[in-house]
Amino acid sequence: IAVQSLENESELAVKKDQQYLWHNITPYSESHPPMIAATANGSWVTDIDGNKFLDGMSGLWCVNVGYGRKELADAAYQQLLTLPYFPLTQSHRPAIALAEKLNEWLGDDYVIFFSNSGSEANEAAFKMARQYQQQIGQHYRHKFIARYRGYHGSSLGALSATGQAQRKYKYEPLTGGFLHVAPPDSYRRPDGLTVETFNLQCAQAIEDTIVWEGAETVAAVIMEPVITGGGVIVPHQVYMDRVQEICRKHGVLLIIDEVICGFGRSGRNFGHHNFGIKPDIVTMAKGLTSAYLPLSATAVRKDIYEVFKDNSDDYGYFRHVNTFGGNPAACALALRNLEILEQEHLVERAEILGQRLAGAFSGLRDHKLVGDVRSFGLVIGIELVADKATKQPADLAVVKGIIAECKSKGLIIGKNGDTVAGFNNVLTFAPPLSSTDEDVQFIIDTFKAVLNGSW
Ligand code: PLP
Repeated sequence: IAVQSLENESELAVKKDQQYLWHNITPYSESHPPMIAATANGSWVTDIDGNKFLDGMSGLWCVNVGYGRKELADAAYQQLLTLPYFPLTQSHRPAIALAEKLNEWLGDDYVIFFSNSGSEANEAAFKMARQYQQQIGQHYRHKFIARYRGYHGSSLGALSATGQAQRKYKYEPLTGGFLHVAPPDSYRRPDGLTVETFNLQCAQAIEDTIVWEGAETVAAVIMEPVITGGGVIVPHQVYMDRVQEICRKHGVLLIIDEVICGFGRSGRNFGHHNFGIKPDIVTMAKGLTSAYLPLSATAVRKDIYEVFKDNSDDYGYFRHVNTFGGNPAACALALRNLEILEQEHLVERAEILGQRLAGAFSGLRDHKLVGDVRSFGLVIGIELVADKATKQPADLAVVKGIIAECKSKGLIIGKNGDTVAGFNNVLTFAPPLSSTDEDVQFIIDTFKAVLNGSW
């Protein structure tokens, strides 16, 4: 009877899900109902039928400290009892403490604006950049330059910055003023160019765009340190150095989107720390709370913030409000989350685990489907191709088939790229930073068995 009622519960949940719930970026499928998660612990999620899966993507690249952290629930609970809400038009202790802590993590002088999601953190960054330029007398600087294949969020401004046609074309026209250049996809560089030369050329495309548009019309460049969701595209050091130099030369702000790369995912506190650059604005979300509660932040260099202190015309301040942004419980939880990352040395662990995974997977380069294996901290991308010589992307059916087979063996992995542009062929791995050695071995063994089995 117990088994039967469990089956019934699961069937009923699927039925109600199909009746009432609209899923994120997933086609409706009667025959392939969604996995309904019930509980989770460490790197493992258990579905409503009791099946266990290793979450090789940390949800959506976000559960950095792993599932089941009672300390995080306690931190939020205590704060909800003490002060559940107060708007950040004024202030409260958890927001002040977290802003101070984020400065420590960033290692530089920033002022922090809180929102709830990565998209909102980027929207705030765009508005700050435009207003800053106006307030220093650069009235025409309203444009933004981003990269194709980058992702910056789903709201209209953040989607405008996104360089993936598949997510945009049904909703256009979007917000004006966003321009795109090609990313430094070294795997697909033209023959005869070294990685370094190619990366310098890609950076030069940003300067060319600034010059052609008229530098006095460009407010900022936005980029992830490494394009993650767009297919794990890792720049060479010279690219990041040159981009920073170009931005400074032309009075263009550099916004670094750390929504995925932040909070240890890259093997350093923030992705840009790997390149030694100093962004003007840093946006962050996901790993800030390990996704236990919604919270995001836009960190702005102190001297940029200073310009907003000018109230002489009564419009000098930032005219942007976010009801839930910086919720006290979310801030208290985020603080505890950062303490866990520190106490358990999870930033360093991300680097170690990333190297282990990348090392184990680099041997797969000989497989007929594997074009390239790339990594950045604990982010691994395996680019699948139909033909190694031409680098023609593997068929989507093959990519999906491998992912489905991994899932049937208890391993969740990701698929990234841009279907419309014909590149949805990068398998991604971003397990929790707290994954055990056994977890990582399970990922390696399962994935290798799948790829070397029927594919
Ligand atoms: N920026 C990057 C790099 C992301 O990967 C994402 C989400 O995946 C976002 C921004 C948007 O974050 P959110 O989904 O929290 O709005």
